[in-house]
Amino acid sequence: MAIETLSNAPSFSGYHFECCCGEQFSNVHAAATCKKCRVYSVWGYTKYVTDLRTGEVVYGELPSEEEYSEAVAAANERWEEERKEWEFQKQMWLEQGDLYEAEMARREAEKAQRRSEEEEDTLWDIQDDLMQA
Ligand SMILES: [Zn+2]
Repeated sequence: MAIETLSNAPSFSGYHFECCCGEQFSNVHAAATCKKCRVYSVWGYTKYVTDLRTGEVVYGELPSEEEYSEAVAAANERWEEERKEWEFQKQMWLEQGDLYEAEMARREAEKAQRRSEEEEDTLWDIQDDLMQA
């Protein structure tokens, strides 16, 4: 093997396809279906794959700056939602915290609402019975 071939190889030899979340793969297909991109990239999917040897985009396309900042804003919103959801789940599990209290209050209110509806139904039933008697 020639020395140049070795020195040309990036840090992980053979793993020269990089997806938009920064993972490196040995082939384009694997990079294009990177699971981490769904979680870590601002796009929520693999937007593009670069061949690190040439710097060329070999899958998808590079976003414009505008597209990128839109994606960042959307991702931050998404991540904030996920963070809130996670915080909520955590508090529900620990059975403490303001989100937990709020959820419990909401469920109480729902129960009370259902109860008063049932009571109303019962009253109507009684009235029906009385009318028929
Ligand atoms: Zn990725």
